[in-house]
Amino acid sequence: MVVFAKDILEAAEFAEQEIESAVKVLDSIVDKNQWKVIEAFQRHQVSDYHFAGSTGYAYNDRGREVLDLVYADVFGAETALVRPHFASGTHTISTALFGVLRPGDELLYITGRPYDTLHKVIGKSGDGTGSLADFGIGYREVALTPDGGVDWEEVALAVTDKTKVIGIQRSRGYDWRSSFTVDEIGGMTEKVKTLAPQAIVFVDNCYGEFTEELEPTQVGVDLMAGSLIKNPGGGLAETGGYICGRRELVEKAAYRLTAPGIGGEVGAMLGTTRGLYQGLFMAPHTVGQALKGSIFAASVFRRCGFETKPAWNAPRTDLIQAVAFAGPEQLIAFVQGIQRAAAVDSHVVPEPWDMPGYEHPVIMAAGTFIQGGSLELSADAPIRAPYIGYMQGGLTYSHVKYGVLMALQSMRDQQLL
Ligand SMILES: *Cc1c(COP(=O)(O)O)cnc(C)c1O
Repeated sequence: MVVFAKDILEAAEFAEQEIESAVKVLDSIVDKNQWKVIEAFQRHQVSDYHFAGSTGYAYNDRGREVLDLVYADVFGAETALVRPHFASGTHTISTALFGVLRPGDELLYITGRPYDTLHKVIGKSGDGTGSLADFGIGYREVALTPDGGVDWEEVALAVTDKTKVIGIQRSRGYDWRSSFTVDEIGGMTEKVKTLAPQAIVFVDNCYGEFTEELEPTQVGVDLMAGSLIKNPGGGLAETGGYICGRRELVEKAAYRLTAPGIGGEVGAMLGTTRGLYQGLFMAPHTVGQALKGSIFAASVFRRCGFETKPAWNAPRTDLIQAVAFAGPEQLIAFVQGIQRAAAVDSHVVPEPWDMPGYEHPVIMAAGTFIQGGSLELSADAPIRAPYIGYMQGGLTYSHVKYGVLMALQSMRDQQLL
């Protein structure tokens, strides 16, 4: 049994009492999303035979087809493309963007600089990598206002008749900003439709699924993408991503994933089908466990003197809990402490490294069953000022609680707290 310092345990006890009302609100979101998922399964009469694998071209794989229908229903979208063939969230988002953008078009991100791994997808003209820019697709972004909102004056100036896609990132990613609620995304979409009626509104929904009762495609968004090793995979999906939204747009993304004329009609599921269904079934509950853990973490860290975003009592729209540390030593001790509480790989000590796709050294705690699966308790931090640690996920609330205690104890052991 690990021994935690008495004041750390007291802070935890205080936090559990403090967050009681917030947890109640959370439980009601979980209930509604759980039933939303069950109803979609029932509507499409999901049966044991849908879980069977497929091989080769996998024409008429009914499990794959019905999974698309279930996802479309849950997300209130015309259609969905849910596939293990998406290698990561970045690949999924990239496929959606390349699916609908053509040379000469412009992509305009209105929520500031997008997630780090997308920078190379956007690329630079003539970079020779096959990035958007390399194919002659223009890119602009509008920074958020100092209070974290969309800068509509600048957006109005940045829109041109070439603007084909307006990008919105729901989650904060590795940024010290607020995430955007579904309600806010609905408002943005409405405004975009007056400024640029021809534009497709695309949402990077990573980390957002099931944290609220509605999803962006239920408030007017045209196209949306996310990762199955985050929220909607429920911790059981072994790999994959989803794209959903308007039929003609999702179809174009499917042509990009496989080949024009083939789209989503082929693609062997390679034994992943049951995990994708069961993961979706579990997702509302597991996201709820992770969120409860984040709320607990926000409360405890604040009590121990750290600034957190969001605060424990702020509304949530994604899994990410950001905590501000005084310097790199504290930040590294925090990440290493999270790792020490893992069931998998607790004996390894994370160190900062130059991870592909990221521009700064990154340190990651990831004692996970699915490599890099971040609906599982994980923590990441780019080693750069201001020293913000990001934690997310947790298949069980108790695990998150121990992770947070271990992180604080790690700092204490090194005289950093
Ligand atoms: C995780 C994430 C991505 C990219 O997903 P990967 O699986 O890491 O490639 C993109 N955008 C946001 C907001 C994310 O959280």
